Amino acid sequence: MELMCPVCDAPLEEAGSTSRCRLCEGAWISEDALVPILEQRASTLVELPWRARPGDKPRPCASCKAEMQTVDLGKVQLDRCPDHGVWFDADELASLLREAKHFTKEMAAVQEPREGLLHRLAKLFRGDKT
Ligand SMILES: [Zn+2]
Ligand SMILES: [Zn+2]
Repeated sequence: MELMCPVCDAPLEEAGSTSRCRLCEGAWISEDALVPILEQRASTLVELPWRARPGDKPRPCASCKAEMQTVDLGKVQLDRCPDHGVWFDADELASLLREAKHFTKEMAAVQEPREGLLHRLAKLFRGDKT
């Protein structure tokens, strides 16, 4: 099915893993495609901390035309259809890529090499308070 720009209502053109609008230079990306792009940029697993941003006029989803959620991801303001994808206005995708490293998954950050854990356990048994 053809994707339509939520802003211009013009057909989007496929460009790699994104679909672009030639008129406003916005980009449409499915979340399945967005996460690996950010993970590659951050060189680690990421988790997207969506935050609702009430008050903005909702735009129609490029795919199903349902009203999208207005959301923040870090400092970037986006529109999101939970079923189909995320809309980036021109430059928003570049801004998000610059923030990719801030979305590092907690799990990945606290994972330690095994030696580290054993070392800490050993300390625990010795009663060290470090
Ligand atoms: Zn457009
Ligand atoms: Zn949709």
